[in-house]
Amino acid sequence: MDQGSDVEPPEEYWVIAFFKSYSKNKTYYRQFMAAGFYEAFDTVMTFSEKTSCQILWYKEKRKCDSKFTKLGIPLLESFCTFCNKEFNNIEPIKCNYEKNDFSCKSEFCSLDCKQEHFYFKHIR
Ligand SMILES: [Zn+2]
Ligand SMILES: [Zn+2]
Repeated sequence: MDQGSDVEPPEEYWVIAFFKSYSKNKTYYRQFMAAGFYEAFDTVMTFSEKTSCQILWYKEKRKCDSKFTKLGIPLLESFCTFCNKEFNNIEPIKCNYEKNDFSCKSEFCSLDCKQEHFYFKHIR
């Protein structure tokens, strides 16, 4: 599907609803930042792979009912690229390594993991 435009979609909050695998009685909600559908899709896929949660839906926060969004939704847990540990950081430690057209989007639970990742991926 080619949308035929070079315009980057704006970064905005998305909301995801899911079941945890062991309990289908309760729906969980989280929010996360993404620029456009494809980035949101990536985030959701990574999340479902790493947690085995069952995704119900996800959409832009501005398209959600305001009664619902006023509740305050916790941020989606991230997973450390290096050690896979779950963390919930408002400002995750990012790699931000850039070379030519490539920019590394990896995120880490600690500076140690960032250093290890940096060494193995970008220096060695
Ligand atoms: Zn880590
Ligand atoms: Zn990196």
